[in-house]
Amino acid sequence: MWEGIQAAHHVGFDPLKLNVVVIPGMNDHEVEAMAALTIERNWHVRFIEFMPIGNESLFLDKGWIDSEMLRHRIRTKFGLTEGTVKGNGPADVFQIPGAKGTLGFISQMSECFCDRCNRVRLSADGWLRPCLLNETGQIDLKTALRSGVSTSVLHQQVQQLLAAKVEINFKQREAGTTTGYARTMSQIGG
Ligand code: SF4
Repeated sequence: MWEGIQAAHHVGFDPLKLNVVVIPGMNDHEVEAMAALTIERNWHVRFIEFMPIGNESLFLDKGWIDSEMLRHRIRTKFGLTEGTVKGNGPADVFQIPGAKGTLGFISQMSECFCDRCNRVRLSADGWLRPCLLNETGQIDLKTALRSGVSTSVLHQQVQQLLAAKVEINFKQREAGTTTGYARTMSQIGG
């Protein structure tokens, strides 16, 4: 993996953005090393809390590590300040003092931001979903496009979906998905 990351940098990905999903017992020992990559490089490392969508036991066992715990570990080893670079996405941006790069934290499990979420997702099977965990109102774009539905009609449908999104947003993700929702993140396309 490290060779691949270096190859991406060599062919021009600069700054390089690395998304890191930390899973307890699997890669949580690498957190400080990943953070240290930003000290001498203008790279953006983003820690994303693992979302055990579709897996109730991992919800119950808390199969993720809170961003605040990761920040505590990094702060203890290197120091940590709020970054001056603001991203466009849901990440909270921090920096190791004097570092060239930044550290982002996406804390969708421990600090639910559903009430301000502006994300929609196109699933691997062609549905435009207003929310990862709530399929209400989703649009079957693949079938519509293949059957010749005009783009102006689709434009209108998407606008209506975006207008309704704030009501659709899940807002209780820390409680898990106990209502028969069984698709995993990889099936959704995440
Ligand atoms: S669960 Fe839905 S509303 Fe909440 S952050 Fe994810 S996509 Fe956005």
